[in-house]
Amino acid sequence: MKVAVLGLGAMGSQLLLRLIDQGVDITGWNRDARRAERAGIPGRFLAGSAREAVAGAEVVITMLADGPAVRAVLGDVADVLGEGALVLDMSTSGPAISCEVAETLAGRRVRFAEAPVSGSVGAARGGTLTVLFGGAAEDLAAAEPVLRHLGKKTIPLGPVGAASTFKLCLNALLHTFNATLAEVLGAATRAGIDLRTAYDTIGESVIAAPFVHYKRDAFLADGMPPVAFAVDLVRKDLELFLAAVTDPGRDAPTVGTAAGVVRRAQEAGLGSEDMATLARLYRP
Ligand code: NAP
Repeated sequence: MKVAVLGLGAMGSQLLLRLIDQGVDITGWNRDARRAERAGIPGRFLAGSAREAVAGAEVVITMLADGPAVRAVLGDVADVLGEGALVLDMSTSGPAISCEVAETLAGRRVRFAEAPVSGSVGAARGGTLTVLFGGAAEDLAAAEPVLRHLGKKTIPLGPVGAASTFKLCLNALLHTFNATLAEVLGAATRAGIDLRTAYDTIGESVIAAPFVHYKRDAFLADGMPPVAFAVDLVRKDLELFLAAVTDPGRDAPTVGTAAGVVRRAQEAGLGSEDMATLARLYRP
């Protein structure tokens, strides 16, 4: 099976490297070619354009920043995609654009399913992502030979739109917790408690989710930590959640407050920094 990956940022690059390791016949493309090189992807696995990457591919994975990027990149390659090819969008795009892109591609007899992921760059590299699947059962079967290399588990959630909606729910929970963690670390340190002691005590408490452990280095870094999940993408997720799941009379006040905190972080110049840098808003 020939596979293409469009978008080799923090997640896409690791996903591609994983599929190379697994012996998949694969070609990747990134808008900024230097980024793919910096990620250590050998040139023979890279195409010079998205159109070149998808030519002859049976499965095309998109791992792009957001829905508008997915719409733009797929719009550019749509006439090159073979009839019956399957596009798997693994980005966090949101249900509105997922459904729109699915309909556009269906008009060209190209199949579309959403497969947003839970797990960050380490899980992408190690093939231990949790994959949420929104799409037809036959498309899940067609995607399975690729997905089994990427995830420890694939969870079918319903038609296109269902997986991206639930992905936004998961991320709203994560980002709200991240914002609260940043805030309470600030409160503790301003009260004179040592940052490491505060963090590790949280890590030993009942609220110690895996997130608390794998983000430890990022929260305790003296300088700027490496970017695993950029603040700009956190804002995108929260805005998509608020747009997708709230309607008049059914608001999401906690998530709305977290989105406000993330906006402050962007205004403070942290947009392209890791999500753990929200803690910098509350430093003593
Ligand atoms: P990232 O490092 O910022 O990479 C974004 C990618 O999108 C880059 O390849 C970028 O290309 C490309 N891109 C953006 N706009 C584009 C456009 N208009 N045309 C073509 N390419 C465009 O983001 P990431 O962390 O890999 O995240 C990718 C997706 O996965 C996002 O939807 C994110 O929410 C989701 N996600 C991330 C994580 C995580 O831990 N990072 C975990 C789960 C899900 P350039 O390099 O040329 O700018």
